[in-house]
Amino acid sequence: MPENTPKLAVKSDIGLHVYSAACSWHGPIENVGKTKTEPSIPCCPYCGMVLFQQEEEVWWAGALRHQENGHTNYEKFLRWSQEQPKCWPTLKEAAEAYKKETKNDVILGQ
Ligand SMILES: [Zn+2]
Repeated sequence: MPENTPKLAVKSDIGLHVYSAACSWHGPIENVGKTKTEPSIPCCPYCGMVLFQQEEEVWWAGALRHQENGHTNYEKFLRWSQEQPKCWPTLKEAAEAYKKETKNDVILGQ
C-alpha cells in the first residue's frame, strides 16, 4: 500500500454507514469519495456511484439479522468487502470474489 494512501476508517466516528445505490461498496461515512461535479456530492470512492446512508448500528444489526435468518456468512462477507480497496459492479460479483478468496460460501438472498 502506498505511503500516501489514507487509512480507511473501520467504524464511523459519527455513527453513519453509507452504501452505494448500485455497486458493492459500503463503509463508514468518513471513507466516501466526492464526485467531480460542482458542487460535489459524496460517492463511492472507487467508481463514483451515489450513496444512501443509515445509522451504523442499524446497518450492522440488519446484516447480522439477515445472516441469522439463513443467509450464511452475510455479515462476515460485508465486513470483508468493507476492507477491500475496491468495489464490484454488483453485490453478486463481490460475493464471488469473497468465496474465491476466503473459500467460504455466502448467501446473499433478496
Ligand atoms: Zn463503487
